Amino acid sequence: MTQPTSVDAIVRRDQARAILDGLPSTLVSNVFVSFSLVGMTWGTIPLRAQVSFVGANVAINAGRAVLGRRWRRQGIADRAPERVLTFAWIGGLLSGLCWAGALVACAVYGQAYTIAVAVAFSGLNAGSIIQNKVARAPAIAFVLPNTLIMVALFVVQGSLESQIIAMNLTLLCVLMFRWSLQQEEHYLRSRRLHYDAIALTDSLQAANVAAGEALRNLEQAATHDHLTGLFNRAAYQKAVEARLAQAATQPVSLWLMLIDLDRFKWINDTFGHSIGDEVLIEVGVGLRQVLGPDAVIARLGGDEFAALVGGHPTEAAGAALAESVVRRLGDIVTRSGQALYAGASVGVAHHPFDGRTLAELQTHADLALYAAKSEGRGTWRPFVDAMDQQLRTRREIERDLPEALETGAIQAWFQPQIDCATGLVIGFEALLRWKHPQLGWIAPPDAIAAAAATRRSRDLTRVILRDACALVRLLDASGHHDPIVSVNISPNEFGTYPIADMVAAELTAHGLSAGRIAIEITEEAVYSNERGGEDVDALIDMGVSIIVDDFGVAYSSIGSLRTLRFDSLKVDRSFIHGIADNLQDRVLLEAILAFARTLGVTVLAEGVETRAQFELLRRLGCPAVQGYHFARAMPPTEALAWITGNDLAARITRRGWAAGTGTIAARRVAARG
Ligand code: C2E
Ligand code: CA
Ligand code: CA
Repeated sequence: MTQPTSVDAIVRRDQARAILDGLPSTLVSNVFVSFSLVGMTWGTIPLRAQVSFVGANVAINAGRAVLGRRWRRQGIADRAPERVLTFAWIGGLLSGLCWAGALVACAVYGQAYTIAVAVAFSGLNAGSIIQNKVARAPAIAFVLPNTLIMVALFVVQGSLESQIIAMNLTLLCVLMFRWSLQQEEHYLRSRRLHYDAIALTDSLQAANVAAGEALRNLEQAATHDHLTGLFNRAAYQKAVEARLAQAATQPVSLWLMLIDLDRFKWINDTFGHSIGDEVLIEVGVGLRQVLGPDAVIARLGGDEFAALVGGHPTEAAGAALAESVVRRLGDIVTRSGQALYAGASVGVAHHPFDGRTLAELQTHADLALYAAKSEGRGTWRPFVDAMDQQLRTRREIERDLPEALETGAIQAWFQPQIDCATGLVIGFEALLRWKHPQLGWIAPPDAIAAAAATRRSRDLTRVILRDACALVRLLDASGHHDPIVSVNISPNEFGTYPIADMVAAELTAHGLSAGRIAIEITEEAVYSNERGGEDVDALIDMGVSIIVDDFGVAYSSIGSLRTLRFDSLKVDRSFIHGIADNLQDRVLLEAILAFARTLGVTVLAEGVETRAQFELLRRLGCPAVQGYHFARAMPPTEALAWITGNDLAARITRRGWAAGTGTIAARRVAARG
């Protein structure tokens, strides 16, 4: 079946259908009335004429009925409505002509001018018009022949009375035609309105669906992270608070986890943001898999995720859960097939033991996360009460840092670096020292973290750099013109201020050449920060040496080092530690030494604690060393005394360095630990 397209076509189809549907009753009444006419004219008109009229009329109407029925079954109204309309008016006309013939017969036998005949035919016509209310053409085609003949007969009859009747008949006919016209128009209009209403309802419904969809999208965007589809921070807080409110009335155990990726910055910078995005998406997938559909999981921003999980009542179950998160987020395979070690650190707080409110749980999970990160990353830690104390200490350090920087409570001490071949001091590493009046010695990483948290990294580095410059001046003054003093700059400082400008300003202020200062950076500084590379280049252009610190851990990848400009590699002390007993560490060190030779850079081994380590390093051809075996970091005057006292260095080197055999200063440093 061809599908009608426009509303007009559909209406035409309906009209054709209605014509076919109405056909049987029209035809039956037509035939019935033809028999009434026979009754009316019985005896006045010969039977033959009556029989031929009724016969012709029945035949015509039967033909119409048969064809109409067949077309109905064949669905012609749907396929070709125009054909049905044509058939209808032709059928009407044929029947109308038959009736006109009857009228002529009446006229022949003198019946045509009677009021009775006029009334009978007018009734017939009115009936036809009323029956055919969906289409005017068949009705008019039926009515027109007999009306014309009837009016003509009255007119030719000549009497005034018949003229009046003719006029009235004409008027009646006109009125009937008009009415028929209006009926058809009314029918078509009402069908059209019907379909317009349906179309309107449909489009309203569609608009409604679209509006609902848009609303859902808006809601999704407002409450979910666009990348991972996890909750965003606001929605997470709401959901967690709702769960906690529920938990207040029934004894349930909930785990709040804060999850931080260990190597996200590196992944982003090394592989690009689109791979970074893929990693985040996969982390979302992994978290959903591990934590299940009931967990509230969110991306709080960057590479920070959080989750609230129920249904793990025992400590062991919670621990297993955290463990599986760490394991699942270790190796991530992105959709594009890239396998990457992302690594995750997880901090866990247990409701209700570690807190009942979101704020408490969040703070405690954060402390646990901090612990997980400082314990080497790629691991998880539960909150323990001692961490609260750590937090208070952290706050105290942050609070007192500015004053310590101003008053000189924070200063640099210096650890010597020794040439393996000559035993001469080739440099010092400046290391931050701060003795807090209440807290005692502050671990340098804690002071550095406090400076970063309070945006005072620049001030802190400036203090250390000034002390380093002061030591160079001191060394110069006593005739030691060669040692280079190195200053550490942490990765997160890069990009926060113009490091090279500050170094240049301090060198100028102290009247020093750039060659007397080195900067120790980790590879992370260069790769995790867009500005890192620029700063390093600017420092190299000035003539400052660059030492790649902590080589061999975390970020180190020999491939990436090829693109970095630097002067010296500092092998991390974790390698040196096992070097005397562990063959693998030794092989690695040999590889690093060979690699450095091909790059034309020098190597310094840090954390040398024993004579055995030192002997081995010397044998392997390591150019320089630093470590407790020689000296710990010491204040500038002691450092100066130490280098002066170790003018016998060459002699000592020949014997192999023995701890504590140096100067008084060296012994004092060793005693302090
Ligand atoms: P680092 O740069 O790897 O510094 C070497 C650390 O190893 C120093 O710890 C030093 O005291 C210690 N060390 C030296 N020889 C030995 C040894 O034979 N055995 C062992 N076990 N350790 C040894 P320190 O001073 O506690 O500093 C720790 C870290 O804090 C440093 O690691 C460095 O990353 C950071 N740091 C220290 N001072 C500064 C600074 O002024 N600025 C910045 N940005 N970071 C600093
Ligand atoms: Ca260092
Ligand atoms: Ca180091």
